[in-house]
Amino acid sequence: MVEFRGVSKVYQTGHPAVDNLNLSIESGKITVFVGPSGCGKTTSLRMINRMVEPTSGTITIDGRDVSTIPAHELRRSMGYVMQQAGLLPHRTVIENISTVLRLNKVPRAQARKRSMELLKTVGLPESMANRYPNQLSGGQQQRVGVARALAADPPVLLMDEPFSAVDPVVRAELQQELIRLQRELAKTIIFVTHDIDEATILGDRVAVFAVGGRVAQYAPPEEILRAPVDDFVANFVGRDRGFRRLSFSSGESVPIHPAQAVLWDGLPLTDDDVAAPTSHDSGTPRWTLAVDVNNRPLGWFVPDAQSETKTGTLIPGGSLFRTGDPLRNALDAALSSPSGLGVAVDADGQVIGVVKASEVLAAIESTREGRN
Ligand code: ADP
Ligand code: MG
Repeated sequence: MVEFRGVSKVYQTGHPAVDNLNLSIESGKITVFVGPSGCGKTTSLRMINRMVEPTSGTITIDGRDVSTIPAHELRRSMGYVMQQAGLLPHRTVIENISTVLRLNKVPRAQARKRSMELLKTVGLPESMANRYPNQLSGGQQQRVGVARALAADPPVLLMDEPFSAVDPVVRAELQQELIRLQRELAKTIIFVTHDIDEATILGDRVAVFAVGGRVAQYAPPEEILRAPVDDFVANFVGRDRGFRRLSFSSGESVPIHPAQAVLWDGLPLTDDDVAAPTSHDSGTPRWTLAVDVNNRPLGWFVPDAQSETKTGTLIPGGSLFRTGDPLRNALDAALSSPSGLGVAVDADGQVIGVVKASEVLAAIESTREGRN
């Protein structure tokens, strides 16, 4: 456990960068420091490994006051990852990862073997081992940065906006990888970001920092979204927090109805391919879903009303609601579909039915009641 007790930092410039921070960080979890820029997140992170010394207060790790641990020892016992991976440009990927191991006097061959394993751990192919950093994409460099931080198998990993400079798609991938790594390695990860979405995705607990270096709220992400303690947090979290909250609610309660489906063989569809729509009162959706031979959804079949040939067109179907997905995905699926019906698929992507927007909204309503 990492603990801040009455920790403040005042740089020469005057007002506190961090003001009386009190925080217990649980071992083996991801704790996120989030907040707008300039509110003391980086300073707080760097005080943990003594890259910055506090003006007052104490920080302990498993009960040991960090100010009593030699700084170089402390830094080697913690991985550190920054926004720009900070790789040494004239060293290969594998040499970069081995750096700390070599500093720790691990023999070269052993360091290399361990570094090759780490490449795999962070999802990079062995073929990248001998490349130089500038031959990698930004996302790949960040992965190498993570591998390097993990090299000495430190129990604590400090990460300062590590994914902020990569594009959103790669960023989402790296976030998922980090969650997987965390499950696998059970490190204590302290992660700084200015992005509330990233904070709620990654954090077991989230500390929202406010201007002036104080923590406005420290709680599990769901609680921060649902019950922000003050206007500052509410504003920072954003107006659509009710919508974000749905990411944490199970989509299980949403009824799935049989879909009326037709196999699409790539040829223009005709009405004859499509079973006659059943009457309204059965509640069966009148829209017809086109699927491929593997029962994967292709889109909605819309018959041309006036056409002599009884042909129709295929229109794109919106996002999918996969088994196990949260309520948010059910709502996305229903609202993004032109039919108002969200397509539900199983883990293999095969159609299992449809969800209705009205019923998703009813399910949302009942989660809200359940909370009061
Ligand atoms: P964040 O990471 O939340 O953006 P920082 O911890 O970097 O915030 O900075 C907090 C405050 O301390 C800011 O006002 C910043 O300008 C100031 N600050 C940070 N580092 C230094 C420094 N080395 N010297 C003087 N002021 C600093
Ligand atoms: Mg910062």
